[in-house]
Amino acid sequence: MTTPSDRPNSVARTRGTLTLPQVIAMDGPSASGKGTLSRRLAKELGYTYVDSGAMYRTLAWHCLQKQVPIPARPADLNPATEKPVIAALRRWKAELKAVDGSIWLHVDGYFPATEIRTDAVEKTVPLIAQIGKVRDWMVARQRDCVEFGPLVMEGRDIGTEVFPLAPVKFFLDANPAARAERMQGRGNTACTERDKLDMNRKQGALIPALDAVRIDNTGQTVEETFALLMGHVRERLPLK
Ligand code: C5P
Repeated sequence: MTTPSDRPNSVARTRGTLTLPQVIAMDGPSASGKGTLSRRLAKELGYTYVDSGAMYRTLAWHCLQKQVPIPARPADLNPATEKPVIAALRRWKAELKAVDGSIWLHVDGYFPATEIRTDAVEKTVPLIAQIGKVRDWMVARQRDCVEFGPLVMEGRDIGTEVFPLAPVKFFLDANPAARAERMQGRGNTACTERDKLDMNRKQGALIPALDAVRIDNTGQTVEETFALLMGHVRERLPLK
């Protein structure tokens, strides 16, 4: 059976013509506003929202639950130490499900919505996200999401790796002080360490796609950034 993930970049080939994936890619570091704005955009456009970070978090949570040994530092990652995580990934019963306009990865029929937001998961997730086979699996599942219809997908590598042919790509950012303040407002500690790991990995690094619209929203309200994004979307997509 051919699944969307078998097709390079999820480009559907219909009677000899290429159909670009109907995806708005929203990348950026932690606390850049991409979550709030992706959900807003999806609601406004009637698109399905996908939080790709939640998928990596769900695997991190699953590994912690199953006491799968996870290297503590990137320097400790090697084929031998990565093996237990890859084995867990091969064994777990994970499935994409659409719930109220969003897609979440369910494990054994359960989506661990609150459990994936703990400090333990935050520490583990950037390490498992360095593992090439983990990234390959996640990218394939993220591409499968197009089966659910047009998407707004947020993450780190959506415009570069997951959907390099997405017709609309954003890369959001804000200065470190503004992002630290937003993290504190949510009761989270600063994410500089996690961002550093995400930026410096070999595969799927956090970098803007060459054709992404880059927006620094330091000092902007959500409304202001949303208006900017919608302006770009209107230019690029045939909206009613
Ligand atoms: O977006 P969120 O902060 O929930 O992502 C959690 C972590 O998942 C990131 O810090 C990163 O390590 C990983 N991630 C990734 N690629 C994505 C989305 C998230 O590596 N597309």
